Parts: sequence; structure tokens; C-alpha cells
Amino acid sequence: MKIAVLPGDGIGPEIVAEALKVLDVFRGEGVKIETEAGDIGGVAVDRQGDPLPAATLALCQGADAILFGSIGGPQYDTLQREMRPERGLLRLRKALDLFANLRPAQVFPELAEASSLKAEIVAGLDIMIVRELTGDIYFGEPRGIAINAAGERVGTNTMVYSESEIRRVAHWGFQAARQRRRELCSVDKMNVLETTQLWRDVMMEVAPEYPDVKLTHMLVDNAAMQLVRNPRQFDVIVTGNLFGDILSDEASMLTGSIGMLPSASLNAVGLGLFEPIHGSAPDIAGRGIANPLAQILSVSMMFRYSLKRPELADRIDRAVRSVLQQGIRTADIARPGEAVASTARMGDAVVAALRAQ
Ligand code: NAD
Repeated sequence: MKIAVLPGDGIGPEIVAEALKVLDVFRGEGVKIETEAGDIGGVAVDRQGDPLPAATLALCQGADAILFGSIGGPQYDTLQREMRPERGLLRLRKALDLFANLRPAQVFPELAEASSLKAEIVAGLDIMIVRELTGDIYFGEPRGIAINAAGERVGTNTMVYSESEIRRVAHWGFQAARQRRRELCSVDKMNVLETTQLWRDVMMEVAPEYPDVKLTHMLVDNAAMQLVRNPRQFDVIVTGNLFGDILSDEASMLTGSIGMLPSASLNAVGLGLFEPIHGSAPDIAGRGIANPLAQILSVSMMFRYSLKRPELADRIDRAVRSVLQQGIRTADIARPGEAVASTARMGDAVVAALRAQ
């Protein structure tokens, strides 16, 4: 298993270091894992004058999976758009055709009180959102702001999906459901948008290939409401880029702990980029206090979805649960008065829990 490791900026290198300790545990048990590091984002601009250097792209193209930290920082905000750290990540997603974005929103029982919703509504919450990532209104043409015949400015974006784009993400949705409770809810707005009528049609066409998965449909406005009313009704949600952008942020905030949530972006052959959903947290970078668990859970998703070693993923998930049960907390998830662990202490605790299994 060859893993490209891209720590990036801010807290990225600090939390990736803890994730690498987890890989070392498995290596010590004889699992063959090779890692190679590359520059991306701001650090790549500083060192190589490009947020996605050619060598980094080649490293990722030759890898079985990519472990990504985070990128960005205020010092890069004034650079021209092409040189900004975020461009490195967008170009990498495009180059590898990472069209399926998997974002779990899981409430660990020990942290249920961190949610902005009542603990009894979110306790046990475990949703996976599969968001299409490379199409939809974000990429559709025509687009822009122009002057119309009346001399008024008019803004245009185009919501567009081909059936092949819908079909390939549908398969990821069904396959993700198969690894879980086998319930897939497809979210659209077919009552007013033809593009999403096609979305629903294709979902129904793919469904017979997965007779063991129960497919339902929901309009996006209702889905946004149901996520705060009764979020536990969902297992896997599959939706387009625009709706998925909004719903996945809504769902992740239900959990109340940004430092806990991993994500995966996958292509048709299962190559994936695995990263925390949070950014580079410049406000706490360099202080050794960031929560490494989202990064460590990204390693779990990597074993589950790209490297096809679900038993190693399960072990990481169990180890994370175990450290939470032991009451070990970084500052972001600690309650007032609770003892606070450093980034490295949290990583070491996960390692100890893995070794104790
Ligand atoms: P952020 O996610 O970096 O931080 C938001 C808040 O959450 C901050 O207070 C931060 O300290 C806290 N936080 C985030 N991760 C944490 C962790 N693991 N442990 C403890 N606390 C944590 O969002 P932001 O401040 O809006 O953005 C900072 C930079 O990150 C920007 O340059 C932005 O463009 C970039 N960004 C990158 C990615 C990515 O790499 N994929 C994603 C989002 C934002």
C-alpha cells in the first residue's frame, strides 16, 4: 500500500504526525505500508512557487491513497487566485477526478452534549453524506455577470448533470449504504428543477443493481428541515454538489465538534484523498493543542474506502471510541474544568488503545 502524505499548512503537519503514528502501529504488525511526503498549499508556494507542484501531482497519481492534512493561512490571502493554497487542492481533485465526496457526521456518545441540538435528538447520530464534487452549478456553462438589453447586470450560473455523472456517484451512494445500514436517501428538487428530475430518474435506474439497499427520495428543502428535526432517520444521503455542500455542513455542525470529522474524496477506480473537514486553524497552529482525531479517522476512511482493509478501519474507530471513553480530551472537545490533552498526547492515547486491542 503506497500512501502519498500531504501535511500542508497550519495544524496540518501537527495532526498528520499523529496519524502517521497509527500507520506505524500497523507497520509494526507486518502490514506493508509505504509513505512518501509531498508539498501542497501554502508550503508548496513558499518552497516551490506552485500550490500543486508537478512532483506532488505525480506522487499522488502513483499512490493507492492520499492522506491530506489542511491548507491555507492568512499570509496567502493576498496572493493572486492561481497561487492561493486552495487552488492546489481544487486542481488535485480535478486532476484525479475525485467526484465522490463522502462526509460522515457522527456523534460520539461521549460528546453528545457538544451539539447545538438537544443531546437526546443527536445521541447515536451516524449519517454519511455522499456529495457529487466535480459537476453541477459550480462548473456548468454559461456562467458570469453580463449586461442585458435593458442595461441591467444579470448573473447566470447553469445547473447541469449528465446521466453518466449521476450514475457514477449513485454507485458510490449505494456502495456506502451497503457498508452501513443499507438505507440510501437521494436528495433532489425534482418538483422545480429538470436537472434533478434526471438525477432522480437515474437513481431509480441504478437501484435494481442493489436490491439489498432501500432507496428513498427527499426534496432538499425537506431534507434541510429533517436534518435538524430528526437527523437519526438518515443512514446514507446522496446528492449533487450544491445541495451536498450545504447539507454536509449542516450535518457536520449537528455533531458540534469540527475536530472530529474526517472526509473522503474518491474517483471511479477507488483512489481517494482523505482529510479532516476542518481547515488549517491558523489561530491555534504551532501550539500543539489541535485535535488530531479527524485526521486519525481520515486514516480509518482510507483503509475502508481506498485500501479495502475494513478490519483496520474498524480497529481505528474502536481505538478512538476507547480514548473518548477514557475521558481524554483536546481543548476543543473538553468541557469547562476538564483536563486537556495535547495533540501528541491524544495521538499517543490512540496508539496505546490500538496496541491494547
Ligand atoms: P478552520 O476549520 O481552520 O477553523 C475553524 C475553527 O475551528 C478555528 O477556531 C480552529 O481553531 C478550530 N479548529 C479547526 N480544526 C481544529 C482541530 N483539529 N482541533 C481544534 N480546533 C480546530 O476554518 P477557518 O479558520 O475558516 O480557515 C482557516 C484556513 O483554512 C483558511 O485559510 C481556509 O481557507 C482554510 N481551509 C482549508 C480547508 C482544507 O484544507 N480542505 C478547509 C477549510 C478551510
